[in-house]
Amino acid sequence: MVPLHDLPYPLFRPRRYGGAWTVRKLVIVTGGVLSGLGKGVVAASVALLFQSKGYRVTLQKIDPYVNLDAGTMNPYEHGEVFVTDDGKETDLDVGRYERFLDRGLSAANYMTTGQVYWSVIRQERAGAFLGQTVQVIPHITDEIKRLIRLPIDRDDAEIGVVEVGGTVGDIEGLPFLEALRQLKDELPREDMCFLHVTLLPQLSTTDELKTKPTQHSVKELRAIGIQPHVLVARSEKPLPEPVRRKLALFCDVPLDCVIENVDRPSIYEVPLMFEENSLDKRIERQLQLPARPTDLATWDRLVARVRAPARRTTVAIVGKYIELYDAYLSIREALLHAGATLDIGVDIRWVAAEKVADDGPVPHLEETDGILIPGGFGDRGIEGKVEAVSYARERGVPYFGICLGLQCAVIEFARSVLGMGDANSSEFDEATSHAVIDLLEEQVGVGDRGGTMRRGASPVLVREGTLAHRLYGATTVEERHRHRFEVNPAYREAFEAGGMAVSGTTPDGHLAEIIELPDHPWFIGVQFHPEFRSRFVSPHPLFTGFVQACAEREGRSS
Ligand code: GLN
Repeated sequence: MVPLHDLPYPLFRPRRYGGAWTVRKLVIVTGGVLSGLGKGVVAASVALLFQSKGYRVTLQKIDPYVNLDAGTMNPYEHGEVFVTDDGKETDLDVGRYERFLDRGLSAANYMTTGQVYWSVIRQERAGAFLGQTVQVIPHITDEIKRLIRLPIDRDDAEIGVVEVGGTVGDIEGLPFLEALRQLKDELPREDMCFLHVTLLPQLSTTDELKTKPTQHSVKELRAIGIQPHVLVARSEKPLPEPVRRKLALFCDVPLDCVIENVDRPSIYEVPLMFEENSLDKRIERQLQLPARPTDLATWDRLVARVRAPARRTTVAIVGKYIELYDAYLSIREALLHAGATLDIGVDIRWVAAEKVADDGPVPHLEETDGILIPGGFGDRGIEGKVEAVSYARERGVPYFGICLGLQCAVIEFARSVLGMGDANSSEFDEATSHAVIDLLEEQVGVGDRGGTMRRGASPVLVREGTLAHRLYGATTVEERHRHRFEVNPAYREAFEAGGMAVSGTTPDGHLAEIIELPDHPWFIGVQFHPEFRSRFVSPHPLFTGFVQACAEREGRSS
């Protein structure tokens, strides 16, 4: 094993490819004032702009919390857990990156404090540092630099965009900023661009945009040894000239590097706004890259449809965390992507599953064109979800069940159609006489909760002649998973005899991956998470099929 401190620096020396020099550049996105400013959208937008200029670009999220990954955090903490093809449970920003770049990322595109320490401690145990005191500087910071290089090497990227989570000044973020400060000294000046995202609060009494919190956060960053090259200032309204001048002067950035980031109705408008504000040109100047034009024609066309779609449809999402904006982020986005391609605006009605159980489904669902039940864990709201499935099945309302949503559809079918009154998942009722959903064989005896589910992409066989096959247009597809329970194979025959088709399975045919009701206008349940593979410019076929079915439903609400 190579001791970390012996790694060759500089890390990003340009390499020769087929006679031409390939650039290695880093754009670092930090944040100040408060969290939730949309740093992820800024990072993804910058990456998209440069990808559209023809560069190979990669993105990485640094999350300074100590968890090894986002897998065990509940949505109240950080919103949805996103899953990559290689099964990493990441922060939702990685999902945003994929949706913007239109390609899959991996575990290498995500880093946490826990992961950095885990790796260093494992090496210390293996004897890599014999005789030495293992310290934050240089050992932890060296490991951070190694992990920053990883996705750049793996993706053979010319430009790496790195987003540092949290806010400048947080104690847990310090080692990351220190590692970046070191990199700044190790790399040629023109190989790094620091971009600092802040908020200009507006006082309602005077209608003024205040710059002081930004000044303070830049001061904090400079105390750490990093001078931002570009300021991206989020505000509710455009920046008046005196405000821009003040920011430039106090934060020591050129006036044309104070970039406006005004709230937009859709995040997909943000890259277009940055292009208009010449953010890409300022980064090109800092990185000494030639001025190249962007090509966002497809993006632009889709954004126009999001702004003013030809028609609209309403979809109810029946879930557990409906009060949380980010808990079902990928599903929300996947519906929007499908709608943008079809020129249909999708209005989401958030329905609390427990309310459906209390009031019955009619008051909550009667004015919607389709019903979607997303993934979830634990028994809260399950009975309401099962009632929502009954409503969709009996009235011919388009139904899309994802992971737990498939499991609820199976439970409902067993109870209502097959007459198994107490059918349930053993996750919710271990004493049920019909465990139609049961623990995956591979999960028996698994005690640890972190990183132990069936996760990541695996092939799904799609049966010909089914709705799923019509939508996919293929007999083998890859989909991402995150679950412990499955349709109990012992009941498969009873389901098929009763009229529920298993239209997708694992390659060995053992595990049900897709179920559907051939006698229903549009009823699909999937054990995987298609929302993780939907992108703005290439929506997922199951979502497109669902949104189309909702918009065309007879007797629909709008
Ligand atoms: N709780 C269910 C399982 O573990 C569903 C998981 C999910 O919806 N992601 O199988």
